[in-house]
Amino acid sequence: MSFDFKLAVQASLRHLLSLGFWLQAGACAIVAWSLLHGGLRESVPAAGAAPAGSPAADAGTPPATAPAQDGHPAEAAAPAAAEATLPLSSIDVTVSRNDTLDRIFRRLKLNLADLASLRGLPGIRRTLDSLRPGESMHVTHHNGDLYGLEWRVSETQTLKVSREGTALRADVLQNPVELRSRTIRGTIDSSLFEAVEAAGAHDQTAVQLADIFGWDIDFVLDVRTGDTFAVTYGEVWRDGKYLHDGPIQAAEFVNQGRTFRAVRYTGPDGHSQYYTPEGRSLHKAFLRAPVEFTRVSSRFNSARYHPILNLIRAHKGVDYAAPTGTPVHAAGDGRIVYAGSLGGYGNCVEIEHSRSIVTLYGHLSRFARGTHVGAHVTQGAVIAYVGMTGLATGPHLHYEYRVNGVFKNPQTVALPAAAPIDPRWREDFLGRSAALLASLEAPPGPMLVSR
Ligand SMILES: [Zn+2]
Repeated sequence: MSFDFKLAVQASLRHLLSLGFWLQAGACAIVAWSLLHGGLRESVPAAGAAPAGSPAADAGTPPATAPAQDGHPAEAAAPAAAEATLPLSSIDVTVSRNDTLDRIFRRLKLNLADLASLRGLPGIRRTLDSLRPGESMHVTHHNGDLYGLEWRVSETQTLKVSREGTALRADVLQNPVELRSRTIRGTIDSSLFEAVEAAGAHDQTAVQLADIFGWDIDFVLDVRTGDTFAVTYGEVWRDGKYLHDGPIQAAEFVNQGRTFRAVRYTGPDGHSQYYTPEGRSLHKAFLRAPVEFTRVSSRFNSARYHPILNLIRAHKGVDYAAPTGTPVHAAGDGRIVYAGSLGGYGNCVEIEHSRSIVTLYGHLSRFARGTHVGAHVTQGAVIAYVGMTGLATGPHLHYEYRVNGVFKNPQTVALPAAAPIDPRWREDFLGRSAALLASLEAPPGPMLVSR
């Protein structure tokens, strides 16, 4: 969830950026047009003189020095200073909606052969195809021949293209990003969001906090005025500008007198998870309900009247009413052992998990792609969609939870915790978490950690 969230935040930042650029640049992508170097013997217009949208209007006059003749135009004929004699023109381009590099090259009347050789360079093809509206790039060219291109392709990376002789080369440079570690503390007055904001952090941190402790605390029903929290997290800055809150590193939440603590740990596999200070997972191995439901239409019951069969019959699962087509998620990691029609269950999926636990999902309208016997699923994966196949009076999910073949009430069964910290990393974890937990006790304020 924190991963999705990060994406959403990046997307909204981009949206803001693009909005700004749209306002600024209007329909025309060219926002600046300047002359960097060179004699007026070239018919390159001076800054501001070029009609917008026709940056290569000067293409008629051949350059005095053929580009790239000696292999390095920037040093071609400038014995006094290491400056180019070639009049290079530079343009700042803002990517419009549905723009491609091809469109941009055509719009700026740049040499399409240069684009082809750019695309031929190893390792950057995907980057070149991932233009996003609002991004800006700085292009230098001479009469349409590409001499340089600088483009911040992500928060952390800049693609830099330069000409070396007749060839182009591309380098991906790391943008200097700075991570500022902060600890905040607060007390809930009205809402978690307001308290986090009052403490000086942003919504992202409130969402993360609720996500981390969401397995133990219901942030809608359980949170009370007077609940307290302490959070250590990283703020991401670049060029002296705050970008966003990074992941929470350690957190404590005191809910109605009960203290919950969490530490983030990234294993050698690069996968990050939150654990208690003792190394237990904060996650459960199973979702309480594998579907977003509108109401529980029938509870687990050892003996109840069956409306269709017209007799008293045990209801060995729970029915979650939800519109047809609502995604049904795998409650935990496991392997699909049945996917098909099964009598009164209608379309049905059965998953076998560890600890001799089996879950079953009935009355499905259809299966998700990849749902078949033998397939491995992870917790939360969409396996099928709500329907009313089999014996059902309306669209709902019939959900069963069995331990060693014994039916348990899915709403109340004690759910096993997800796996604790791997014993191989336990020592490393304990060392790191001690420092992080200590940071929660430290006086609030920024502490700089560069990266
Ligand atoms: Zn049922």
